[in-house]
Amino acid sequence: MDLMEKLTILADSAKYDAACTSSGADRSGRGSAIGSAVSYGICHTFTADGRCVSLLKVLFSNACIYDCKYCVNRVSNHKARRASFTPRELADLTLAFYRRNYIEGLFLSSGVVRSPDHTSELLLETLRLLREEYGFGGYIHVKAIPGADPRLLDAIGLLADRMSVNVELPSSQSLQKLAPDKSKHDILRPMRHIALRRGENREELVRYRRAPKFVPAGQATQMVVGATPESDFQILHLTESLYRSYDLKRVFFSAYIPVGDDRNLPSPDTKPPLLREHRLYQADWLLRFYHFSAGEILDEAHPNFNPVLDPKCNWAVHHMERFPVEIMRAREEELLRVPGIGPKSARRILAARRAGKLDFKAVARLGVVMKRAQYFITCAGKLADGLRVTDEAILRALTSRDAAAILSPPAEQLTLIPEELSMEDVRLCLKA
Ligand code: SF4
Repeated sequence: MDLMEKLTILADSAKYDAACTSSGADRSGRGSAIGSAVSYGICHTFTADGRCVSLLKVLFSNACIYDCKYCVNRVSNHKARRASFTPRELADLTLAFYRRNYIEGLFLSSGVVRSPDHTSELLLETLRLLREEYGFGGYIHVKAIPGADPRLLDAIGLLADRMSVNVELPSSQSLQKLAPDKSKHDILRPMRHIALRRGENREELVRYRRAPKFVPAGQATQMVVGATPESDFQILHLTESLYRSYDLKRVFFSAYIPVGDDRNLPSPDTKPPLLREHRLYQADWLLRFYHFSAGEILDEAHPNFNPVLDPKCNWAVHHMERFPVEIMRAREEELLRVPGIGPKSARRILAARRAGKLDFKAVARLGVVMKRAQYFITCAGKLADGLRVTDEAILRALTSRDAAAILSPPAEQLTLIPEELSMEDVRLCLKA
């Protein structure tokens, strides 16, 4: 099999990984045009210093010996075409793409070839060739293989910028049913190991400026959403505890795309739950940047997201006793709870009010989305002139149209958010 064929198969096999977004561009350089793009395996991610970089996103091999029912590369999928790179092939390919300016780094994952240790050795050799033999300084994100020897993780972590271990599914029962070769212990052990090593490394770097860096861009994880019956609350609760326990940079959510007909999976014609995935990302932002806890966003009595309101607006309309807040006195954490105010605009308000009084026009100039925020704030103790505060007006201002915007047809969620929602529809959703 030639290299292009391998690349086609292994980039396609990697597309289900949510840790970065595929560009999907496919344009060849023509005539006097400048530049070209390839459809296979280019994705984007953000480095530790906030730069957006394009990565070659591939599997080292899709000849996996495991049988995760939700995965196209599972050993029982006899229709899948199998391919594996050699470490040198993949290192050469990465370098060739880099030299042509297609990519600035590599996002490398793999099916389990023979054993977790053997697979990790192959990944390590690829990274060693790139970093030590070719002197490649670009960004590298590697998926750790659960069950591999911690010494291999240590060696890979000294060559990679970011590592991730996929949680895969939100509960150990689901893992047992759908990924029988993996265990919660096998997944959490490397995660804990990476977190501990990163902690030690921070101390080493304080003592020795030239100490080698271990996974400097931190670790991430990913879980599949919609393949198993866990509620949004369970998923968000797990997300929160992963951030707290393992010093994670990101938790990625991947809407389940039907790939198998196992009786434990949703039916093959189920549409990917893209709106649910989107709400999880919104809630994840609330955990990371808005000082929310999972228990404030959802709870046992309301275990799933509201389809018509984003999680922050949903929280606000259920806590009207906390509003309005006075723009000149509210603490930063109170400002962050106001629909239409984000971390940047909250900081701007804090800075601007030190210099003088703020009225509604001044607040709008600071980047606050007034259409939403006006119902939740006062300036000098007063609501905006002429504002009619009724449940209906608030719900109209907050009702989310984002679902329709983010989903591309023919995704099922489009039918969840009809273009013209009646207020009765919205109220029913709020009560649910
Ligand atoms: S280990 Fe499971 S999820 Fe990973 S490639 Fe193999 S079958 Fe797929």
